[in-house]
Amino acid sequence: MNTDFDILIIGGGMVGASLGVALGALPLRVGLIEAVEFESTAQPSYDDRTVALSYGSKRIFESLKVWDRLEASGATPIQRIHISDRGHFGFARLDAAETGVAALGYVVENRALGQALKLALAETKNLTFICPATVEDVAFTESAASVTFRRDGKLETLSARLVVAADGGTSPVRNKAGIEARRTDYRQTALVTNVTPERPHRNVAYERFTNSGPLAFLPMSENRCAVVWSLTPEKVEALLTLDDVRFLAALQEQFGTRLGRLLKVGKRAAYPLALTKVSEHIRPRLVLIGNAAHTVHPVAGQGFNLGLRDVAVLAQVLNEAQRAGRDLGELAVLEGYADWRKRDNLAISTLTDGLVRTFSNDLAPLSFARNLGLVAIDLIPPAKRALLRLSMGLAGRLPRLARGLPS
Ligand SMILES: Cc1cc2nc3c(=O)[nH]c(=O)nc-3n(C[C@H](O)[C@H](O)[C@H](O)COP(=O)(O)OP(=O)(O)OC[C@H]3O[C@@H](n4cnc5c(N)ncnc54)[C@H](O)[C@@H]3O)c2cc1C
Repeated sequence: MNTDFDILIIGGGMVGASLGVALGALPLRVGLIEAVEFESTAQPSYDDRTVALSYGSKRIFESLKVWDRLEASGATPIQRIHISDRGHFGFARLDAAETGVAALGYVVENRALGQALKLALAETKNLTFICPATVEDVAFTESAASVTFRRDGKLETLSARLVVAADGGTSPVRNKAGIEARRTDYRQTALVTNVTPERPHRNVAYERFTNSGPLAFLPMSENRCAVVWSLTPEKVEALLTLDDVRFLAALQEQFGTRLGRLLKVGKRAAYPLALTKVSEHIRPRLVLIGNAAHTVHPVAGQGFNLGLRDVAVLAQVLNEAQRAGRDLGELAVLEGYADWRKRDNLAISTLTDGLVRTFSNDLAPLSFARNLGLVAIDLIPPAKRALLRLSMGLAGRLPRLARGLPS
């Protein structure tokens, strides 16, 4: 059957737009449908947050020729990570110098990422970008998928050999396809803001586990630190109502004085947190990627990095299938993708879920064991290396884009 596109990507958030850039460089007809313009204040992906990109994600963005723009927009290197358990003895330090790379990762503002991806999409030869347009329905036959969306108040339908759902954690496409998503509510909300401390951050990221939940300070441009503070929804609600002086005092009490006094705070926003696992990642003519396929706790800054590795692997699998003259929507092709992604997906969801559960519990034996764990990571090189490879996005079989090669 003749189709309008080879591949239609639904959702142009960080993951879908990255896939658009990767696939648009291949000899394929690719469409990308996004509901909200990238500059809009209603954009759910390119909002006031920052994202910690792993070293592996930097390599993928270098291969996609997006990195130079991110670097120019103020991407801040993370040279060291300091992990501690507030009020207990354990801590661990991870250092870029020990790994032979310039930085363990980079902190980028989501809006800057949106602008860099938008420019890259505009330069991408084989891509049609349809925005703003909201997908309302998807239907599948044996030989094609059809996607119905609303643009300028009117319904339109396009067909493709494969639909990629990159439409976020509540994925309307996943729901339309009837794929089950198991959501485990963490009973935690992330309070996100940025602060300016008295002392220079020296490119150190701090992950501090507190009785009330994990608290991260990530180095940003202009000596600011991006703050991700996970607490019960009630505590977040109370913190959102405080004036800046009281809020900074509450934050300082949890973070301590490592960076001197906290002087200034930016806008505050809240995000409820959940672990989501889906029953199927692929179906004939359908793939789920990014948050549509998995959401994890932001404790180790891994959600988008995981989604970007979905992108790199999918681009490679589809490129190889295209070259071999295969049908891109065929289940056997998509199984190659799903099998490759299984291990990474499981490792990251287990790591983040384990960290949240172990460190949110104040039972004395558990707190002693987890502090021993931190000391072990600090002192035992193989344990440290394994954690570094996973968090840097370098564990397991790497796709071509993550090795600096075209997909
Ligand atoms: C507080 C917090 C901090 C985080 N920090 C980090 C970090 O430091 N590092 C990291 O790697 N990850 C981090 N993450 C995770 C990261 O934000 C997500 O993994 C990432 O946003 C997922 O991108 P996505 O494109 O899959 O989904 P989304 O960002 O949700 O984008 C989905 C897109 O689909 C569009 N869409 C939805 N429905 C439709 C429709 N019907 N039609 C058309 N378009 C549609 C939306 O408009 C949106 O643009 C963090 C998450 C949170 C909550």
